[in-house]
Amino acid sequence: MSDAKIIDGKAIAADVRAGVAKDVARLKAEHGFVPGLAVVLVGEDPASKVYVKNKAAQTVETGMLSFEHKLPAETAEADLLALVDKLNKDPAVNGILVQLPLPKHINSEKVLNAIDPDKDVDGFHPVNVGRLWIGARSLVPCTPTGSLILAKTVQENLSGLDAVVVGRSNIVGKPMASLLLAQSCTVTVCHSRTKDLPGVVRRADLVVAAVGIPEFVKGDWIKPGAIVIDVGINRVPKGDGKTKLVGDCDYESCAKVAGAITPVPGGVGPMTIACLLKNTVEAALIQKGLPALS
Ligand code: NDP
Repeated sequence: MSDAKIIDGKAIAADVRAGVAKDVARLKAEHGFVPGLAVVLVGEDPASKVYVKNKAAQTVETGMLSFEHKLPAETAEADLLALVDKLNKDPAVNGILVQLPLPKHINSEKVLNAIDPDKDVDGFHPVNVGRLWIGARSLVPCTPTGSLILAKTVQENLSGLDAVVVGRSNIVGKPMASLLLAQSCTVTVCHSRTKDLPGVVRRADLVVAAVGIPEFVKGDWIKPGAIVIDVGINRVPKGDGKTKLVGDCDYESCAKVAGAITPVPGGVGPMTIACLLKNTVEAALIQKGLPALS
């Protein structure tokens, strides 16, 4: 039995999508346009195909336009760059997402940097990274945005909290740290060279785990009552020849100590696409010179 409040990412993601649908309807009624998201998939990676299908379906469900571009694995880098350029110039396309990983012969950084920063709904372009750090209006990576929304459902005002982010990747750890700093948390970012990681995590009122190691963060590292946001998604053997998904936190032991915790699956995972849809609306507003809606 867990003592922590379980943060229901599935339900909260549904609320975010409902909010996006409302915003889309309002933009159509008040400004006469419908935001559009283009998703580019190169190759046949099975997981990527599922993500792209889900992204397209949820885009349409919120009333937006979805443009899918499926290219063969042997597509030349120059052809992909030409497609990105075309999408950059297409006024019906407000958001562009190039599904990662790309085939090895394509330089991912070059492709991502070719996306118009105002259409960069993944928030990976260096211009958006910079805007986020200086507190300017920007498109923010989806997983950290979703993680922050989840934490704020537990405690709306995070100001002054000690927050520890475990992981310093460009797509999760670093933008997460920036978002928490903007919430006036005192932020510590940990990584593989951090000394006494359990001791550092134990000081945290809010822990975000984005490590990529199954069940890495243990319950006795958690300060009683802390908010624990588990970003990890790891597929591990279940023992019966099948597999299951687990997070980067040891859920059972952490849930006994935490005040609130996200489960895996059903925590941060569903928030990522919901925040991608939110970013598409925000991208459209930025391009039209309109203020943010929420
Ligand atoms: P990366 O592999 O890019 O980064 C992992 C980070 O963890 C690195 O900064 C690394 O440190 C740190 N780390 C590794 N080992 C240790 C250790 N022993 N002690 C402390 N820190 C350590 O992973 P991502 O950020 O891309 O992803 C993290 C997790 O989040 C994964 O489980 C991934 O599947 C999941 N994820 C989930 C998403 C979602 O939609 N919910 C989206 C994206 C990711 P160093 O820099 O020193 O190497």
